[in-house]
Amino acid sequence: PSTIGILGGGQLGRMLTLEARRMGYRVAVFTDEKPGCPAGQWADAEYNAAYDDKHALERFLSRVDVVTVEFENIPDACLQAVEAVRPLRPGRKAIHTTQHREREKLFLRDQGIACAPFRIVETLAQLEEAVKELGRPCVIKTAAFGYDGKGQAKVNADTDLAEAWKAFEGHHAVVEQWIPFVAEVSVVGARSVDGRMAVHGVLENQHAHHILDVTIAPARVEVSITDQALELWEAVAEGLDYVGTMAVEMFVTADGKVMVNEIAPRPHNSGHYSIDACVTNQFQQQLRAICGLSLGDPSLHTPAVMINLLGDVWPAEKTPPDWSAVLMHPRAKLHLYGKAEARAKRKMGHITVLGDTVEEALESAQSIKTGLGMA
Ligand code: ATP
Ligand code: MG
Ligand code: MG
Repeated sequence: PSTIGILGGGQLGRMLTLEARRMGYRVAVFTDEKPGCPAGQWADAEYNAAYDDKHALERFLSRVDVVTVEFENIPDACLQAVEAVRPLRPGRKAIHTTQHREREKLFLRDQGIACAPFRIVETLAQLEEAVKELGRPCVIKTAAFGYDGKGQAKVNADTDLAEAWKAFEGHHAVVEQWIPFVAEVSVVGARSVDGRMAVHGVLENQHAHHILDVTIAPARVEVSITDQALELWEAVAEGLDYVGTMAVEMFVTADGKVMVNEIAPRPHNSGHYSIDACVTNQFQQQLRAICGLSLGDPSLHTPAVMINLLGDVWPAEKTPPDWSAVLMHPRAKLHLYGKAEARAKRKMGHITVLGDTVEEALESAQSIKTGLGMA
């Protein structure tokens, strides 16, 4: 292929585009965002239209040789139209399954892959039944379109279910048992067209307000945890006939078990450290996989900590913080996503800090956070 088509226009598409251009590919982005979106800024062509706009999609498809996604919430009709004329990698099955929490959970159950006990509910009566069976605390999640903890409600000992259900009325929801995890980890890796797999390793993730805050590479967990996590990733990748870069988010429990939280059919925020700390980063792996090439060496060459930069750090909508607090650290790398306006909780960029050890990287990360006025 010479031109890569990307569905979605956010920062994941931007980093994928940059990597593609470095490798000499052309890139066309199709997004329902406004022109000048983070991915479009670096693409050769940007198509801005609704995902169900047949004519715009046709023009986009005539221009590209292979299509991938940087965002999973692409309507199925669009995926079908793409698949009919171009290779879609990952395929429709992987995207369709993982864009919907109910389908994703049923896939995990079918494959016998460990995840939190759950029930699918459509009515208040079913919710009451589910909460009785699963016990409190538990969490209600919308089946479609949730991210960064949006579309979720925790059910505590004193939560009124009728009140909680109001936000989900008329929708399918998944109710999950609350897992008192000791750590959250993810595995980011890629699978090639011929079924070979290359995994970056197990990453430790810390969330704040349901949004990824910090990723630590490698995760500070025992080998038995790493082994389980890698095995789960492979089971998911094979079960979905996956092609491309994929992330699986997981919980680690106090008794040393690992279970899947959710699957992202694309490069993932917790894999951003790989740009600066791995031999081959998650975006290059995605390109190699979707172009039918051999995968690169995913191994970590330097321990790293990634810090997410949310709009909250910006003093004003269009005023970035003083980056000298970051740049005074010679082993810190600043990545900004070209978003014109900062808003609370909006992902604006990230920083990767390298260290000779994870502890050293963590120390630098803490000092950078303090310097930027982050908690
Ligand atoms: P994103 O797609 O942006 O990662 P999301 O909105 O799909 O987020 P989840 O990953 O399902 O949300 O949940 C966000 C966070 O909430 C998890 O990373 C975890 O910290 C917490 N959480 C979610 N489900 C559970 C659970 N069953 N038990 C304990 N904690 C949970
Ligand atoms: Mg999610
Ligand atoms: Mg998540």
